[in-house]
Amino acid sequence: MISAQDQTFCIKCGNLRVFSRQWKDKFNGKGSVITHTESVCPDVECQKIVDAKFAELREHKVASEERRKSAALLKKTEREARLAGSS
Ligand SMILES: [Zn+2]
Repeated sequence: MISAQDQTFCIKCGNLRVFSRQWKDKFNGKGSVITHTESVCPDVECQKIVDAKFAELREHKVASEERRKSAALLKKTEREARLAGSS
């Protein structure tokens, strides 16, 4: 029996996603086991597009994170350079 909670819809075509796989994992090694379920779009081609989109979003997130880090580093370096120059 599948509860309504487990039902997800494809973000692209809106089809009800079908169960793909399920695996169990120990959560933080604390002994409580959590069950992961993965569902996919019944349309294989659509799922490929969705996968690519998610991969793109992940990359984008990583890239902006990297940019933020290097921007902070640059500011720090500039400040240090100014301090070094004023004395
Ligand atoms: Zn779809």
